[in-house]
Amino acid sequence: MRKKILVTGGAGFLGSHLCERLLNEGNEVVCLDNYFTGQKSNVVHLLNNPYFELIRHDVTMPFYIEVDEIYNLACPASPIHYQFNPIKTVKTSVMGAINMLGLAKRIKAKILQASTSEVYGDPQIHPQTESYWGHVNPIGERACYDEGKRAAETLFVNYHKQNNVRIKIMRIFNTYGPRMHPNDGRVVSNFIVQALKGEEITLYGDGQQSRSFCYYSDLIDGMIRLMNTGDEFTGPVNVGNPNEFTIRELAEKVIHLTGSKSKIITRPLPSDDPLQRQPDITLARQKLNWEPKIQLDEGLKHTIEYFKTIIK
Ligand code: NAD
Ligand code: UDP
Ligand code: UDP
Repeated sequence: MRKKILVTGGAGFLGSHLCERLLNEGNEVVCLDNYFTGQKSNVVHLLNNPYFELIRHDVTMPFYIEVDEIYNLACPASPIHYQFNPIKTVKTSVMGAINMLGLAKRIKAKILQASTSEVYGDPQIHPQTESYWGHVNPIGERACYDEGKRAAETLFVNYHKQNNVRIKIMRIFNTYGPRMHPNDGRVVSNFIVQALKGEEITLYGDGQQSRSFCYYSDLIDGMIRLMNTGDEFTGPVNVGNPNEFTIRELAEKVIHLTGSKSKIITRPLPSDDPLQRQPDITLARQKLNWEPKIQLDEGLKHTIEYFKTIIK
């Protein structure tokens, strides 16, 4: 049966892939975005689909529509962008959640929140399980994003308890792939763009900090599986690829896979940069029957091919 689905942040990296998948599965999709970090070009190929609608709107403002499901992805995700206007970042997460939850409550829609591994902050347990409360500096550079997303989770849980809103909370770990903006500032896009242009690769700190990188198609698959779970399962659930790499290893892989002559240079480590991060995905395996399929080398190859087509 064709569902009508709202995707906020739908013109961004993950949102645009989600819109495309939902349309391919036979749904009607309304994509809402304020184009802060997203771009029309990410969804322009969907515009001639009669079941796709693109709307410029900011989630900090109320929004009225009738849909069956809401995926709430609106929020800048890269540190340079979410720190550009930190107050706006908090408003986007918190007021955006209130408005989308108010909408879900009124129309009795199911709603999924794109939360983040950042709710764990600089984690003191490893790998991170959903039961871990996290280690976040509430007044640090990353707080606008981390605390905004934590408050959004609190709102989701309480709209569920108080108003019976059907919710799903997904804690997304570092995800990469085609359609990341070349100036996005996140590590995978930075390194690939630098390598392809023959520029110096900017390693922050000593590069011994780690991340676990998930390819976008696996992530989108997990997101749709979560939305389709029974109402009794609300999450939060970690979705990410548990294969962990140091950032230096990532830099070396990118140089190798691009055949670049770029040299690695070091830059100061930003404050509160988490030292390590790896999802425990036991719950996702159980509840979503989900497992990432694309490992880093393969995902990087596809992503490098994409960036070759957009970098002149
Ligand atoms: P992105 O920056 O490409 O996408 C975010 C989208 O939200 C953009 O299109 C942007 O224009 C839009 N947006 C921002 N503020 C808005 C507002 N006030 N109103 C309407 N639209 C607004 O980033 P992404 O990687 O696609 O991330 C999508 C979601 O997933 C975000 O909520 C992010 O926090 C979450 N997430 C992503 C990752 C990752 O590694 N990619 C990890 C954890 C969580
Ligand atoms: N809201 C919205 N669309 C709707 C219903 C509500 O954008 O269809 C917004 C509205 O701004 C409201 C917020 O969601 O303030 C929270 O709604 P709720 O019903 O929880 O609380 P209210 O503020 O209306 O008492
Ligand atoms: N990083 C880096 N060089 C860059 C961009 C990022 O060394 O050009 C590092 C950053 O300090 C962090 C890791 O790569 O340790 C991941 O950064 P990103 O911004 O992609 O994601 P997040 O820190 O939010 O996980």
